Amino acid sequence: MAFWGNDKQEDGKTPIQQQQPVLTGSLEDSYNELVKVKGRTPGIDLAIRLSDLILDHAVKERSSDVHIESQGANLRVRFRVDGILQDMLNSPKNSDIPLTQRIRVLAGFDPEPPTSFRNEEGRFQKIIAGRAIQVRVSSFPTVNGEKLVLRVLDRQQLGLDIEQLGLDPEAMVIIKKVIRNPYGIFFITGSTGSGKTTSLYAILKNISTPMINVITLEDPVEYRLEGLNQAQISAKTGFTWAEGLRTILRQDPDVIMVGEIRDYESAEISLRSALTGHLLFTTIHTINAPSIIERLFEMGIPPFLIASSMLGAMSQRLVRKVCPHCSQKATPPSEAVVNEFIKNMDPTEGKIIKELILKPGATYKIEKGCPECRNTGYMGRTGIFELMIMNEEIRKQVLDHAPTDLIKRTGVQTGKMRTLLMDGILKARTGVTTLSEVIRVTATMV
Ligand SMILES: [Zn+2]
Repeated sequence: MAFWGNDKQEDGKTPIQQQQPVLTGSLEDSYNELVKVKGRTPGIDLAIRLSDLILDHAVKERSSDVHIESQGANLRVRFRVDGILQDMLNSPKNSDIPLTQRIRVLAGFDPEPPTSFRNEEGRFQKIIAGRAIQVRVSSFPTVNGEKLVLRVLDRQQLGLDIEQLGLDPEAMVIIKKVIRNPYGIFFITGSTGSGKTTSLYAILKNISTPMINVITLEDPVEYRLEGLNQAQISAKTGFTWAEGLRTILRQDPDVIMVGEIRDYESAEISLRSALTGHLLFTTIHTINAPSIIERLFEMGIPPFLIASSMLGAMSQRLVRKVCPHCSQKATPPSEAVVNEFIKNMDPTEGKIIKELILKPGATYKIEKGCPECRNTGYMGRTGIFELMIMNEEIRKQVLDHAPTDLIKRTGVQTGKMRTLLMDGILKARTGVTTLSEVIRVTATMV
């Protein structure tokens, strides 16, 4: 069955003629159309068409993940769009259309799921709408049957251009300067799905030239980028973060990206190599930028090492952009509402927040819902950022082992640091998103 693997690993140069015709209607409509020719067309051909259709719709709807639950008598397909799962298809399964087998083969698995549990991860590439889309496939055996999750990596959606991340012009100038330091370490923090990997890639892409050696350590390698030397961590084979870092340092690197720092050993090696002429970018799991310092203290990193190697840190979240087709103008919240909102905040921060919300000249928007945005009121996402740049005042506090709150206040007062909430409010003021969306995203500060 040679055709099973036919369009696997397309090389990006495949002619556009492989594209599907322009899609109309929903995935459910497409599915119903497809099922009509059942019996007259071999099931395998239908499975190929169905998997194509699912991916075409997924890209059209800008989904990041596709969940295929082929369980019992039903076939359920859900798309994650702008961070939220949506039902796209929930129909009686046609068992003579071997959809999961088709996707398993594309991913490089055996057509039939293994009889005993085995972690299965694979990937393939497909040309959709003229673009090379990378798809990462994970299989999971549930009691009702196999569940496949397809992570869809669309370079256009990823927006790997630093200009597309959502940084405002002032922050953009600062960050472009910081990432051009000859050595030092820059941290990015944010919850899962906050876009921090995208930011890391965008930064690397921005500074990468043929004259520098950029090496990355990742788990997993999310997206393959030209010009970078990307390596995959594998605890199974002993290629741990710390071991990977030691190996990288023997590879004459200029710039190193470490996917995540989570223990003393990898933190210590990273910070030391930042002192000895390397430029490092990494992520670390904390609730905001200033708490990175406390996290490093907790890991046992001495204050002098942090103070002398850290260039700065950025915390980020993704907020949904309000739908341009249906959003409506909103009046700013009343002073009483704002007072209630800020009452438990640090007084200095609360005062800034209050002024930011109430300052005249804002064009607040409120979400509504229309067919264009599938009645969610939102379309697409953008980042909100908290950028903390090391300065003399912060450095002194690091050496004094100061608590996070103090470092945060110093960042705001002396380093013009804007917290996530402040940056989000600025985006709501210009009508990019809504105040409720900013509050939703920043309220869960984990
Ligand atoms: Zn809309």
